[in-house]
Amino acid sequence: MPATPVYHYTNLATNEQIASLLPPDHPEMICLQTGTHVPETKYGLLGILAAIFWFPLGIGICLLDRRVRCTRCGLMIDEGICR
Ligand SMILES: [Zn+2]
Repeated sequence: MPATPVYHYTNLATNEQIASLLPPDHPEMICLQTGTHVPETKYGLLGILAAIFWFPLGIGICLLDRRVRCTRCGLMIDEGICR
């Protein structure tokens, strides 16, 4: 039975030492090692409708109803105020 490899990483964002079973080419580990994410902003349907029907006031609601997600590891960076 082969031994399970354990990888050691340093989280550049927090300088923490981390041992993980995930390989270095795993998306979560790439984000961890570079200390950055690849943010993608998505606007919620409510915010988009508000922007259309209550223009220009709705633009403010549109900006609040957004989610920022990392396209590489899928981490939710900013969930906005509406869920
Ligand atoms: Zn990420």
